[in-house]
Amino acid sequence: MPSRRKGRTPVGRTPVGRTPGQRTLTGEPAGPGIVVGPVYVMRWEVPEVRHRIIDDDEVPDEIARLHEAFAHARERLGHVRARTEEHAGPEEARIFDAQILLLEDESLRTEVESHIRQNFAAEKAFDLVMLEHRQHFARQTHAKMRERVNDLTDVQIRILSLLLGLPDHDPVDVPKGANAILVTHELTPSLIVQLDRDAIVGIATDSGTRTSHVAILARSLGLPAVLGLRDATARLVGGERVVLDGTLGVLVIGPTAAQVTDYRRRAHREAEVQAEMRQFAGVDPVTRDGVRVTIFANVDLPEEAESAAQSGAEGVGLMRTEFLVVGRSVIPDEDEQYRAYARVVDAFGGRPVIVRTFDVGGDKLPATTYASEPNPFLGWRAIRMCLDDPELFKTQLRALLRAGLHGDLRIMLPLVVTLDEVRQSRTLLREAADELTRRGTPFRADVPLGVMIETPAAAVSASTFSRDVDFFSIGTNDLVQYTLAVDRGNANLAARFTPLHPAILRLIRGVVGVADGAQLELCVCGEMASDPLMAFALIGLGLRQLSVAPRSVALVKRIVTMVSAEAAAAAATEALDAPTAAMVEQGLRRRFVAEVGDAPYIRDGLPAPV
Ligand code: PEP
Ligand code: MG
Repeated sequence: MPSRRKGRTPVGRTPVGRTPGQRTLTGEPAGPGIVVGPVYVMRWEVPEVRHRIIDDDEVPDEIARLHEAFAHARERLGHVRARTEEHAGPEEARIFDAQILLLEDESLRTEVESHIRQNFAAEKAFDLVMLEHRQHFARQTHAKMRERVNDLTDVQIRILSLLLGLPDHDPVDVPKGANAILVTHELTPSLIVQLDRDAIVGIATDSGTRTSHVAILARSLGLPAVLGLRDATARLVGGERVVLDGTLGVLVIGPTAAQVTDYRRRAHREAEVQAEMRQFAGVDPVTRDGVRVTIFANVDLPEEAESAAQSGAEGVGLMRTEFLVVGRSVIPDEDEQYRAYARVVDAFGGRPVIVRTFDVGGDKLPATTYASEPNPFLGWRAIRMCLDDPELFKTQLRALLRAGLHGDLRIMLPLVVTLDEVRQSRTLLREAADELTRRGTPFRADVPLGVMIETPAAAVSASTFSRDVDFFSIGTNDLVQYTLAVDRGNANLAARFTPLHPAILRLIRGVVGVADGAQLELCVCGEMASDPLMAFALIGLGLRQLSVAPRSVALVKRIVTMVSAEAAAAAATEALDAPTAAMVEQGLRRRFVAEVGDAPYIRDGLPAPV
């Protein structure tokens, strides 16, 4: 749960920008925690290549330079491959095979050489040839062919960096125990899962926001993170000592000894507050006027299951299964998936565990099996991809049905827009069950099936789904993104990503009405539920189940016990009529503070920085 500075945050978002002064950069607090360490800058972009013409007598030297760069890159890739095999396994290491083959391809080298003979400098000749190849593959209709563009780009970056004398930015060599802070322009979930977490202790990026999946994953991994710093990569060269404060969202470059001491004191205090908060993990989340609100946890990785179970969560409101897939070159098979789901269900011993089927796409991509799209968040993702690839989907469904024998597992479909998607999914679920029956593999037949309400279409037409589903769960991260037309990962728009916009509250209120009418269970599992002020608003709107980050379970439980549902309802009624997000927030905060008083970890209705 990120803390925010008093008076700085319109509607719970931190404006992106820099504080005055050269040495402190301010961004989005995206993963709480404070770390001190050396910067490791990772630049993984195709460098700009100036047009350079050479004389005829320079041609042999340029060709020799080219050969040297190829040999060097080949050696380097062999090393990267070996390191990846060490910490991610042989399957993952195979990602690099296509690139190694490219570097060993004689015809590619001959092509570049012929450009050099036409008096292009080696880097320009190579750049031109790679551009042609990339365009050729990008035009292919077959996805597998289009995927080669990524390999070509990686090889292009590697060779050009060598020819231009740019530093090698491959993060694979950050030594274990370096306690380095990774600074990069843009980090994807697939890169994050491949990082050696014994080497990297914090993340800072130019782009991204709190609700981007990189941020969600960083929090799950317990990595302090500050995103949306805009130009951190331009201001840092690497090796500088910094303080990364993921709680407040700042990066202090070259801190003084006094600053380091102060940050260490705050880090210590934060740990103490977390420990104090744990005493509320076991409380019964009942409001002052006797309304019970069930608090579930969101689980992003199976390895989190046991710690999430100890957070006080009463089950799992959302398990994001796509992190089993992102960054990997092969989709885990049925047995591996079964073990992952069963592990989470076992950890929660009979309590509900809602597992969401693959929400792959958008910013969550496997390493090699997905072609890039012009509008990924509006693209071939989530349920759309699963329905188009029934084998992939049914493998997951079989694993889920089998894991259902371990406890109260429920299946949830992401990004649903039409009823047909639910009906087709049911058909595939039946087929998956039939396949298990034919195989003689035991499974649970009556696993409930629910949908995420995370598109305006699903929210507005929730009633059309109610007879076909067993439960609803509102995904506010995407609901806000699609309703307000604000890219959830765009740092430039972070201040416009306002979950308390009246349109969002009205959509949520509508879904609550439908769920109540149809007597369906309804939860909110987006980031909104983890924020004390917004949790108060959600309770007021009638929500009785919230699924939050494990770290926030105790805090949100504590909030529930401090408020009355009646006061929350009055606040929500007022909020529904307010004209702007800022006014909604103002009114809510006033009423919230009147309810919770000045608890030591709450200031003005927000988690307080310590
Ligand atoms: C959401 O959209 O609110 C959600 C919970 O799913 P995700 O963040 O994984 O898209
Ligand atoms: Mg979503």
